[in-house]
Amino acid sequence: MSKQDDTNVTRRSLLTWGAGLVATAAVTAALPACKKTTDGKKSALPFKWDGPPPPKGMTVADPNKGAGKALAYYVKTDQIDPKKEELFKKGRNCANCSFYQTVSGSTAWGRCTMLAMTLVTAEGWCKVWGPKAGTKTK
Ligand code: SF4
Repeated sequence: MSKQDDTNVTRRSLLTWGAGLVATAAVTAALPACKKTTDGKKSALPFKWDGPPPPKGMTVADPNKGAGKALAYYVKTDQIDPKKEELFKKGRNCANCSFYQTVSGSTAWGRCTMLAMTLVTAEGWCKVWGPKAGTKTK
């Protein structure tokens, strides 16, 4: 192997190593932060949640980032300050929103078409809530 070959191998190794480092950093940044549940166990959810766990293998909407934050998504309507969220009315929640799609095997979670089909809680809400057909709320 010539000196030129050695230099190429070293450059190639560094580039491969660097690309791996960048990929690892990107994946780590994309993972939701872990919060502790009320029983002190770590949760993979990006918010405090003491209800039933979400169905496995589906992405959960984050109320503190991206579209969840932009739409003022709350995981529980009892966290909403009606003075701050003037569009919220008692009785409105994800479960009776036209953008909510039920998920097989779960009554606590569903998919939201406004949040890229990520999982939202049935008892959540956001500012683009729209009544599901037959919903009797103001
Ligand atoms: S669009 Fe509807 S289902 Fe989606 S987060 Fe808002 S209220 Fe919930």
